[in-house]
Amino acid sequence: PVLPINECVETRPPYWQSGPTPYRLLAERFAAVSEVTGRQVITEKLTHMLRLIIRHAPQDLLPALYLSSNNIAPAYEGIELGIGPQILVKAITSISDMSSKTIKATWDVKGDWGDVVVAARMSTQMLVQPKPLTVAGVFSTLQKIAAMKGQGTVNQKADLVKKMMIACQGEELRFLTRTLVSHLRIGAVRTTILIALSHAVLLEHDIPADVLKSLSKDQLKARVKTAEQTLKECYAQVPNYDIIVPLLLNPDIGLARIIAECKCMPGVPIRPMLGKITRDLTEVFENLEGMNFCADYKYDGQRAQIHRSDSGEITIFSRHLETMTDKYPDIITLIPSIITPSTTSFILDAEVVAIDEAGAVASFQTLSNRARKNVAEGEVKVKVCVYAFDLMFLNGVSLITESFRTRRDAMRKAFVPVEKRFAFVEQLESKEPDEIQAFLTQSLQNGCEGIMVKILDTPSTTSTSTRRSLLATYEPDKRTESWLKVKKDYLSTLADSFDLVPIGAWYGTGRKATWYSPILLACWNPETECFESFCKCMSGFSDAFYKSMKDRYSPESGKLLPGPKSYFTISDSQRPDVWFLPSEVWEIRGADLTVSPVHQAAMGKVDEAKGISLRFPRFIKVRDDRSVEDATTPDEIVHMFTRQRVRGPEPVKEAAEE
Ligand code: ATP
Repeated sequence: PVLPINECVETRPPYWQSGPTPYRLLAERFAAVSEVTGRQVITEKLTHMLRLIIRHAPQDLLPALYLSSNNIAPAYEGIELGIGPQILVKAITSISDMSSKTIKATWDVKGDWGDVVVAARMSTQMLVQPKPLTVAGVFSTLQKIAAMKGQGTVNQKADLVKKMMIACQGEELRFLTRTLVSHLRIGAVRTTILIALSHAVLLEHDIPADVLKSLSKDQLKARVKTAEQTLKECYAQVPNYDIIVPLLLNPDIGLARIIAECKCMPGVPIRPMLGKITRDLTEVFENLEGMNFCADYKYDGQRAQIHRSDSGEITIFSRHLETMTDKYPDIITLIPSIITPSTTSFILDAEVVAIDEAGAVASFQTLSNRARKNVAEGEVKVKVCVYAFDLMFLNGVSLITESFRTRRDAMRKAFVPVEKRFAFVEQLESKEPDEIQAFLTQSLQNGCEGIMVKILDTPSTTSTSTRRSLLATYEPDKRTESWLKVKKDYLSTLADSFDLVPIGAWYGTGRKATWYSPILLACWNPETECFESFCKCMSGFSDAFYKSMKDRYSPESGKLLPGPKSYFTISDSQRPDVWFLPSEVWEIRGADLTVSPVHQAAMGKVDEAKGISLRFPRFIKVRDDRSVEDATTPDEIVHMFTRQRVRGPEPVKEAAEE
């Protein structure tokens, strides 16, 4: 089934014929959900529950969502119930025959407070049976409990817990207790709940019942997909049900208009955009061919989303959306000095990096020595500098649908650097592989982790690259190919060089449009007498060399082939634009050797179905003293590959000094 669409949602259970949603409905659904594992079944069960609530008691949708996601407020607010074993044991002993010793022993066996409470036989006899629990009632009691602070509140909390426990029926006791210890165990993660909510709202609110009946299966499927995406997108920008739910239930808004109405805002963290790992710069260039991009230093610190509201309130969120404002009082006092007079509200994406006295970036370890909570500014020992790299909101307006270029330019206008305290990330706008390679090396020398290559403008629809739908907009909660990270972990230089034969090339783009770049290089297998593709090289060449290559491999030279020779071993995915007659040997250096699903060198020798490839190949010189049959062989490559494994990659520093 596509989703729980059965013409109409099941009817209400007999114990709920009117009034607010009984807590029992949730407890029973939680019990049913905890017995299954399939994502789809869980989603279906939750959807049914939410549909019933939207239909009969929409005011309970918000508390039901919080209770299903084991929270009583948006997760980033970090509100905790503060209920530990002490309170639970107190409550359980007061309503059952179990001694505290037995309770602890039972816990040791079961490892779940919900199961412990159910095992404890209720002994308290009530003269008057308490009223059944409601979703709203449980939720507001939990809010009360969370608001109680300090040692003296143990008894008060235990009292409220006890009252709720006494009123429990059936499965309620188990799940209420699990909620109290923030361990619901129903396997419904954030995405499942969002999907269930999108289905429920779509079917109960956005599509009128008569229209629903007339939709074909495919039409419905399409609506469902859109609904899921809409809600996920919305939640990625505003991860707060208090804001989202009223909009969803508003007859004039619903799913259809929620994206327009629900925009990011200071004080509510945006789920951060993330980058994709790339194996090397060659991969970066392949991915971003024909596009405008820039490279940022990738600093090694802590991501910080800094918010300032119109009223001047500042909040700082971590990468996982925890509020960490009180960790950085020094950043709070810094803000007035880094904004221009016209800057009022903003949401800034930045990396907080530890720095030494001279202002040089220090390691992540140094930063992690800094206290995490309630830091007093005067006691800060580890100084930090904020490196800003993106701006998602400025002066009341969301910028996330703007291109990175627009956001970056707005950021540069709205903020001013302050020495050793606030800077824009070091950035290079270039399409030259050599320049980017040098920038990467420089980033490592300056204590960074590598670089982040980012698309500046969304390519026009006519561009060849749109097939990958690369966007320059800020994409909350997505690990996109619009941000590619190249980290030093994958960078090092092999001591040995390789003698390789150019066997083909692609036509260059941009400035290199009239030249060949990259070049496909092969090793020589004397056993099979074949040239096996080994890597694509686009680094280390001078312009003069590119020009001379064009002459050496001109149509008149006789070295341009109409197609690959039968003695070329190449994969279908590596078909260059032009083929060369093997006639030269080039000395090439690289970072390290890697098992490759694409390249054919030494195929089957270290992995049954894979070859070996060289990462970060860099041209050194033409070896006039060698013939193509003197080129590096697969056995030599395997030897180096094995040695590299034993020794580990060479240190990065050698690459820089070389
Ligand atoms: P990692 O563990 O590699 O830091 P991650 O999963 O936290 O990765 P990624 O998007 O993969 O996140 O890598 C980007 C991270 O690098 C950001 O979360 C941020 O903390 C950090 N960073 C440092 N400099 C930059 C920059 N210029 N642009 C974006 N992110 C940066």
